[in-house]
Amino acid sequence: MNNFKYKNPTKILFGKGQIENLTEEIPANAKILMLYGGGSIKKNGIYDQVKKALKNYEVIEFGGIPANPEYDILLRALQLIKSENITFMLAVGGGSVIDGTKFLSAAALYKGDTPWDLLTQKTPTLEGLPFGTVLTLPATGSEMNSGAVITRAETKEKLAMGGPGLFPVFSILDPQVIASIPERQLANGIADAFTHVLEQYMTYPIGASLQDRMAESVLQTLIEVAPVIIKNPKDYTAASNFMWSCTMALNGLLPLGVPTDWAVHAIGHELTALYGIDHARTLAVIAPSHYRYNFDRKKEKLALYAERVWNITEGTLEEKANLGIEKTESFFHELGIKTKLSDYTEEFDGTANVISNRFKDRGWLGLGEHKALSPSDVAKIVEMAY
Ligand code: NAP
Ligand code: FE
Repeated sequence: MNNFKYKNPTKILFGKGQIENLTEEIPANAKILMLYGGGSIKKNGIYDQVKKALKNYEVIEFGGIPANPEYDILLRALQLIKSENITFMLAVGGGSVIDGTKFLSAAALYKGDTPWDLLTQKTPTLEGLPFGTVLTLPATGSEMNSGAVITRAETKEKLAMGGPGLFPVFSILDPQVIASIPERQLANGIADAFTHVLEQYMTYPIGASLQDRMAESVLQTLIEVAPVIIKNPKDYTAASNFMWSCTMALNGLLPLGVPTDWAVHAIGHELTALYGIDHARTLAVIAPSHYRYNFDRKKEKLALYAERVWNITEGTLEEKANLGIEKTESFFHELGIKTKLSDYTEEFDGTANVISNRFKDRGWLGLGEHKALSPSDVAKIVEMAY
């Protein structure tokens, strides 16, 4: 097992009716900026619940944060934070609203030239403007981690940032919010969380037994819950298990002591930046090719995954490993998610070179758990996903 340090300061309030308890977590004299997305919270009643809970506070609102939070829009919120002397932010939404809020948390205290530096310089943010979240869409784990991904349409970029100063102070996880999520977003949430676990699990060498079994249990729970929640998002038991699995998939517990990959996300972000494909769907496109391309390195772990997660007991190590990849791809298909780039865009030709050149330009010369994947390996993985 590798050395590790672990601290996760986010307080979780999980369960029915927890939105009411919001005010216990926010300082009484706070001036709050409430941030949300394109308006789903106004249709499903979450907006009203939050406003009711905040009735004794001074609250300013900023709505309209789009899926894949856009830099230029966030800069407008940044002006508001400064002109209104905001002291606390409340993100009410999915990963996009929460990530946008994390960017603002860092940008509000940033002293450099332009807040875009936060995305390009990779310096961890140690202190941010405090914020809490009311999660409306289980998927990203952003509600209990300190990372964010921000999009800039002008330059077709999508880059990550983060640091120990960007954990939410608290997150409210009421599984009842799932009832109004459309099927496409439910499927995305399952696929994103599933891939988060794979990025932290499908690595070599093998040796952290507890971490492996924790990862397998999150994968198994997602597989079990997927058909139930897609059929009936009002099923509270399924909704609870789905929501907590997504949080556990990316709250810093699974990577302890193990090498982590993240190549699928790095490549996937480019597909969203270039073609606007939903985040989770880019992962479903890249993951199978990534595991096929890196088969020799990862085959032992792939076989273990096939055995323990998919109950494949027959066959050689290679046969099991291959079946593990096939099962993963079928799982995405069962969610209604296509796994080839050509399913999403007719302009796929040339994408492999565009992405590998971007990685070269940024100096991203080694991806994966041992930084062994060069930009030309990346090009081959993308080509296999056409
Ligand atoms: P999202 O982009 O936050 O939301 C997707 C859609 O779902 C929006 O149209 C939203 O509508 C709708 N929605 C949300 N909650 C709903 C509800 N309860 N009922 C009905 N509709 C609802 O989706 P996401 O998958 O959570 O976030 C994706 C972003 O997170 C991507 O940018 C991705 O790169 C990033 N990400 C971050 C991390 C991390 O650790 N920080 C990890 C993985 C991915 P409204 O806009 O109208 O609310
Ligand atoms: Fe993700």
